[in-house]
Amino acid sequence: MADLGFIGLGIMGRGMASNLIASGHRPLVWNRTPSRYEGIDAHRADSPRDLGARSEIVFVCVSDSPDVEEVVFGPQGAIHEMAPGAVIVDHSTISPAATQDFSARAAERGVAWVDAPVSGGSEGAERGTLAVMAGGPAEALERARPYMEAYSKSIVHIGEEPGSGQTAKAVNQVLVVINALAVSEGLLLADAAGLDLQTTLSAVEGGAAGSWMLSNRGPQVIQRDWRPGFTIDLQVKDLRIALEEADRLGVPMPGLALVFQLYKALQNRGLGSEGNHALIKALEEMADRKVGSAE
Ligand code: NAP
Repeated sequence: MADLGFIGLGIMGRGMASNLIASGHRPLVWNRTPSRYEGIDAHRADSPRDLGARSEIVFVCVSDSPDVEEVVFGPQGAIHEMAPGAVIVDHSTISPAATQDFSARAAERGVAWVDAPVSGGSEGAERGTLAVMAGGPAEALERARPYMEAYSKSIVHIGEEPGSGQTAKAVNQVLVVINALAVSEGLLLADAAGLDLQTTLSAVEGGAAGSWMLSNRGPQVIQRDWRPGFTIDLQVKDLRIALEEADRLGVPMPGLALVFQLYKALQNRGLGSEGNHALIKALEEMADRKVGSAE
């Protein structure tokens, strides 16, 4: 068994680390805010640098590209004392271009970089059923795979090209948010027509309209439960990455651009920390009506 380190015990990281521990592994962990260690039965590193010095495989799950840069390459970053031959597996959703840069900088020190963003929400992290889309060297992924299986139901190698996992994640987010808009519009229509929302959801989720978003977030919308599995702030970050990729590749994406604008409007209303299913609030504002039970 390799010595493992895990950086970032947020909504996703804590589920992943907990499943690693439950499978009998003993990762060293580090999180910037100490309160997030609560309930995690593992040894704590003093810093990412300390963690890197003591780990052969370092898993990272933080927010955005600058955050990955800080915990890996910053003054107290993990890379400085990692041994040649070690592996970094980045589970954060960040830009493919930044990933290419990070991979090249890690390679200068003999450290392999696997970009391995995930999908499946907070529930997937907690239940160990995430879908991982990985880019980078297959050999490094294969070394990390047995540990990643503790929290994943599928791990697909997209390609050797650094950042190809992140690009696949951008595709994933296009599919997710346009579906979130469909769920929002469907529930708004059902509500305006006076249908019982839960009954309508039960009727359509087993057919061609069924989706993860509808079954997992639809009931939360009906209950007006805006607690985040995934926040609007993080979704805006992901859509910015997808729009940049689309722009770079010259691909028009009108649906994606529309949903991005709706999420920006919600951020401007101070709703960035709510769950991304609160997208319906943008439509409610336009329709001048609220869906589901009273707030
Ligand atoms: P989160 O709950 O906000 O946690 C973010 C984590 O990153 C925390 O541990 C935070 O530390 C750490 N962090 C952020 N900036 C940092 C910095 N500069 N230095 C050190 N630590 C830093 O977010 P999350 O939902 O777990 O998401 C983590 C990643 O997974 C994101 O890239 C997100 O897009 C992706 N993701 C999330 C979901 C989901 O459903 N939530 C699904 C798929 C992918 P502190 O505790 O100190 O703030």
